[in-house]
Amino acid sequence: MASALKNIIVVGGSYVGKTTAQELARIVPNTHRILLIEPHSHFHHLFAFPRFAIVPGQEHKAFIPYSGLFSSISNPTKHAVIQARVLSVQPHHVKLDREWEGSGQVPFEYLVVATGTRLSEPAGMKDNDKLASVAYLQKHQADIKQAKSILIAGGGAVGVQMATDLKEYYPDKEITVVQSRPHLMPQYHPKLHELIKGRFDELGIKFITGSRVKVPSTGFPTTTPFPVHLTDGTKLPSEFDFVILATGQTPNTDLLADLPVSTPNPGSLLNPANGFIRIRPTMQFLDEKYSHLFAVGDIADTGLRKAARPGAAQAAVVAKNIHSLIEGREPGDEFSRAPAGIHLTLGLKYNVVFRNPNEAEGQTEPAVIERHDGQEDMGVEGWWERLGVKIQGVAQQYHL
Ligand SMILES: Cc1cc2nc3c(=O)[nH]c(=O)nc-3n(C[C@H](O)[C@H](O)[C@H](O)COP(=O)(O)OP(=O)(O)OC[C@H]3O[C@@H](n4cnc5c(N)ncnc54)[C@H](O)[C@@H]3O)c2cc1C
Repeated sequence: MASALKNIIVVGGSYVGKTTAQELARIVPNTHRILLIEPHSHFHHLFAFPRFAIVPGQEHKAFIPYSGLFSSISNPTKHAVIQARVLSVQPHHVKLDREWEGSGQVPFEYLVVATGTRLSEPAGMKDNDKLASVAYLQKHQADIKQAKSILIAGGGAVGVQMATDLKEYYPDKEITVVQSRPHLMPQYHPKLHELIKGRFDELGIKFITGSRVKVPSTGFPTTTPFPVHLTDGTKLPSEFDFVILATGQTPNTDLLADLPVSTPNPGSLLNPANGFIRIRPTMQFLDEKYSHLFAVGDIADTGLRKAARPGAAQAAVVAKNIHSLIEGREPGDEFSRAPAGIHLTLGLKYNVVFRNPNEAEGQTEPAVIERHDGQEDMGVEGWWERLGVKIQGVAQQYHL
């Protein structure tokens, strides 16, 4: 039977989508319910994937059940997490890849797109269920253990974190990082490059900047060791046993392909320069037809560096604006533009919190906090609590 409640749909249940769903559930009136739609069986704590693809024994902790998502909210059972993929967004309903409550279509009054980006393994998982993803990470750990010489293509957060973890956990392995840009982590102030370079030198990690790895169309050979070429034709001096691709992110916007737009031109919905969803400062779609559709987190074309932390603040903006619309008021909250920051591991214990200078306030130097307090499981317990699952001293619970 169809519910008498009006639906607010959040598509995508990662860091920003889950926070948006929780914020909405806290403030919307009893007339509405929140439906979070996500194909993964569990929340993917992807900050930990680079570590758990190397260090054994923790991998199951990166997949957290959604069962407690609304547990701190009154009347939690009226809201739901639907395990499904949204195939298509239409002006007032979504089409799913499976049936939910007897239908493949779910109507909505408001919809929030939080579909983020696709990352290649091991930074993102191919499978939707926990057991298959855990098995994948265990296989990755075993492959790495076997390899003597490992190449990492990509000098962003994934490449840098994996290189430093690898060399600290396996000091005898040869680790080489190839980065296409002149700097590692180029979205940040050049002092971060200098800091990472110092750490790479200290650990004995080789790195090449301004070059791209040529990925063979059939993939890298399975018989090792094998040679690796750069796109400029150069062959790297040593051979490798294993390659980790830590490159690029592709926006997940297929679901919007059939959405009719006000002015059918290539830029009305997505920014043609980068493929992200165009939004107003209130995070509503820029297209004037769609004041009831919002984009939040990495998928929104905010012009800001993609990160989960500002995404959480955006989630609150979206929730307040949807609340205003429900009450017949103009949505007045706008997302803020803080400078980019990152909490980066540079080995198992050493980590840095780095924040770009706030130029609007006249700052010219970044803020850097160096710490030596890293834990092997990266403090994953706190994330289980944020998902409403309290670990009460029973390690078995992490297998839920
Ligand atoms: C190794 C690493 C470390 C990081 N560390 C930090 C950090 O310390 N601090 C920080 O702030 N940021 C960090 N980031 C960045 C952060 O992970 C991203 O900014 C964040 O994941 C963005 O969240 P999101 O919810 O917008 O989208 P994503 O995390 O990209 O998630 C999108 C979700 O949408 C789902 N989805 C996609 N298409 C559909 C569909 N059609 N139907 C239904 N669901 C769909 C996906 O399955 C996925 O769950 C890190 C990133 C990496 C890779």
